[in-house]
Amino acid sequence: MMTEWLLTDLHIHTTFSDGTIPIEEVVRIYGEAGFDAIAITDHLFDTQSPRSLELYDEGKSIKDLESYFRKIEEVSRWAKETYHLLVIPGMEICNLLEDYHILGIDLKEAVDPNQDAEGVIGEIHRQGGLAIASHPHLKLSYFMQGDNVSIQRHPLHLWKHRKRYSEKLDAWEIANGEDLFAIISLERLRFVANSDFHERHHLSSWKSLIFAEKDKEAVKQAILQRKLSLFFFHEDGSTVKLPQAKIFHEETECSDQMEGAGKGKILIADDESDFVEMLAYNLRKKEYQILTAYNGFEAWEKIESEKPDLLILDLMMPDLDGWELCRMIRRNDGEEIRGIGILMLTARAMPEDRVYGLEIGADDYLTKPFSLNELILRVEKLLERKRAMGQLKEEMDSLHSSIRNKEKDIKRVVHDLKNPLLSMGASAKRMLGRNRNEEEVKILKNIYDSSLRLTRWIDDTLFSSDHLSEEKKWEMKEIEIQPMVQQMIDLLKEASRDKNIEIHFEASPSIPLVYCQEQLLSRAIENLLSNALKFTPRGGKVDVAVTPYTGRNNGGVIEISIKDTGIGILEEDIERIFEPFYRGRNSLSETGAGLGLSFVKEVVNLHGGRILVQSEPRKGSIFSVLLPIRARLKL
Ligand code: ADP
Repeated sequence: MMTEWLLTDLHIHTTFSDGTIPIEEVVRIYGEAGFDAIAITDHLFDTQSPRSLELYDEGKSIKDLESYFRKIEEVSRWAKETYHLLVIPGMEICNLLEDYHILGIDLKEAVDPNQDAEGVIGEIHRQGGLAIASHPHLKLSYFMQGDNVSIQRHPLHLWKHRKRYSEKLDAWEIANGEDLFAIISLERLRFVANSDFHERHHLSSWKSLIFAEKDKEAVKQAILQRKLSLFFFHEDGSTVKLPQAKIFHEETECSDQMEGAGKGKILIADDESDFVEMLAYNLRKKEYQILTAYNGFEAWEKIESEKPDLLILDLMMPDLDGWELCRMIRRNDGEEIRGIGILMLTARAMPEDRVYGLEIGADDYLTKPFSLNELILRVEKLLERKRAMGQLKEEMDSLHSSIRNKEKDIKRVVHDLKNPLLSMGASAKRMLGRNRNEEEVKILKNIYDSSLRLTRWIDDTLFSSDHLSEEKKWEMKEIEIQPMVQQMIDLLKEASRDKNIEIHFEASPSIPLVYCQEQLLSRAIENLLSNALKFTPRGGKVDVAVTPYTGRNNGGVIEISIKDTGIGILEEDIERIFEPFYRGRNSLSETGAGLGLSFVKEVVNLHGGRILVQSEPRKGSIFSVLLPIRARLKL
């Protein structure tokens, strides 16, 4: 056999996968075109990603591997006899999760596609085959055609980690169809040029001329020894369609940019410039405004000056790494910087890293390699969340300020009311002292009682929001709860008698002393009791109980519960009754300002306690105040 320049094409698809032409016809085309050696390399996809399974359904992956190899063997005999054409069995092993396509040239059997690239290369080598990286870089033709989907789906894992794979792979496709990846020769990697044949017109494209004997082993050796030259094969009369560059109208570009700013500003910080550009290109297409940084310091400068909405952050960067940057952002004084969304990217896949990343303040975390679609989805989700949070915060702020204003107004009005009320009460009392008939006494007593009640309410209101947090002002001490509750019940005796409501008080025999602010707590209990009386119809019943739940070391809680047989609270109100000024929808016929329970809650919180409520409309309610004891048991 003699050594000669062999016209070869080692990347050809047939109807065994997504080629449009059956294998016999493909061999005839190459034979008649005068080729010396070809490899049939139909796709075999992994079965672990949903998209790959779709590709199986669409018939784009070999289904019956045995008949695939049998058929290649059969046609190779016939090709040799008829055209002196060497047909080599191969496969393109594709894994969408791991993001690689690898050609196996001269295979005897299938290679498992459900493994990482190193595993695939290892299996190819065990069979004596060559492992070649398919179309390792992004194709210029995608950009010219504006084919965003292909750009997003293009496998880039091998190229991104070319240092790791340069020793392992036997060659890289320097040309695929009409696309050239000149950078491969600049990096001094071994290469071949193939057509990636799917359709008839793909025959006119870049090919390799290999200097070897027409024999499988010799062809493989020549590739390894770089005895190869590139050649653009142009079939006579073929009508090659040159890719049409998509030219954007100026106006569209302009409006794109405007929208870009509106959809969100994203900073991509990663030292791999290929990756940054690819990501920037794709996100710009989605109308985001993109900033880029290639090291940690540059990223920090841009964060400070541009205040992006989202940061896509690689963990491994020279100088300032991603962990540190993340910490600096979350500890920053400025709210705009502290609130930046962070999506962390890393080649490390350890779960601890992920947890650590989220702990130090990343909002989301992706491990490389990942699919571009997934990244874009997560970016969209994060920005959406950020927008929603911003809106919520604005609404909360405006609500808070309107509540504060309302409170201020009310306090002013209420304060102004107090003096005339006191003088009304005092006048009524003075007149009571004189001899009056029964009816007049009743009226005057009513005026006096009402003015007192209102004055007390005024005190509660002024008192409730202003000073509660100033603990120093309110001295805490150990008190006996039972007499305090009894005193409050006595205070309301008259009101309960008027409504013919029986108040039953039960206290456990040994109640520990409770460390608390007596004045506040007694007012809170009084509020709960007077609510129970107010919202319970005539003839009803109120049960008050004090129960200690003591724990070890004199700890534990004490429960003060007030149960009534009143109108109850509607389910839709129950969540809100502790808000200032909120009044239940079934209770509007009673007087009130909706401030009592908010005061109670503030007092309970101040004591580190909790207030619970259970209620059934038209049956009654139970309010339970749970207070920590922190005192000695009184036996
Ligand atoms: P107010 O009594 O002035 O309306 P509160 O803050 O004391 O305001 O109570 C808020 C709301 O909670 C009341 O309007 C009422 O709807 C409901 N509520 C409070 N206590 C009871 C109770 N014991 N029975 C039924 N509803 C109650």
